[in-house]
Amino acid sequence: CGIVGILGREPVAPSLVEALKRLEYRGYDSAGIATLEKGKLTRLRASGKLRNLEEKLSAAPLLGTSGIGHTRWATHGRPTETNAHPHTSGGLAVVHNGIIENFRELREELTGKGHVFATETDSEVVAHLVAEERGKGAAPREAVAATLARLDGAFALAFLFEGEEDLLIGARRGAPLAAGWGDEGVYLGSDALALAPFARQIAYLEEGDHVVLTRENITFYDAAGKEAERRRQPLQPGS
Ligand code: GLU
Repeated sequence: CGIVGILGREPVAPSLVEALKRLEYRGYDSAGIATLEKGKLTRLRASGKLRNLEEKLSAAPLLGTSGIGHTRWATHGRPTETNAHPHTSGGLAVVHNGIIENFRELREELTGKGHVFATETDSEVVAHLVAEERGKGAAPREAVAATLARLDGAFALAFLFEGEEDLLIGARRGAPLAAGWGDEGVYLGSDALALAPFARQIAYLEEGDHVVLTRENITFYDAAGKEAERRRQPLQPGS
């Protein structure tokens, strides 16, 4: 029910959890984060309160400086740790808010192509669709754009790719998502509240947009895949 993504300079897990706490008001039944450590995905998930995730993190910290996080309000699949986001396939991780309406058809198609599903969620098809495109040689943004064209339903999405420490990709259709610029990094989040401790400026994605973040640049693309300008607004620190 809430999404966050960070490209930082220090390990991002504590900030991911802090941002997720600021999204708790939306309600959730489980939570998870993934980071990239030396180019490899590391992931921790827990059912129940964010406190459970924090306990796991203090026992086994995630040290990556790039990461994504999620609080889940289950729509498809029970609120278990296995069904908690991020979901992974072929060296990428994704978090999703919303509902993928055509997930049954997509799941059947992908299973036929040899993809093995680990969860009961509608969201997991997104990970496998992007992995399928990557397997055909598509670059990360191309793979995401091709996947968005196949999805029916409402979503905000954030992606992390193995071997790509300086890359986050986000997308929005029917669920809010903002990108943010801060002194310590660049950010993705469901709303301004989540990013208030970190970002000095934010810009909301418009309907159908996707966005590519590196530590130096944030580039927006509209629903037709064309580069687009999005209005930056200042954020009050600590609001
Ligand atoms: N439909 C997805 C699921 O049940 C995402 C739910 C959400 O927005 O948190 O896992």
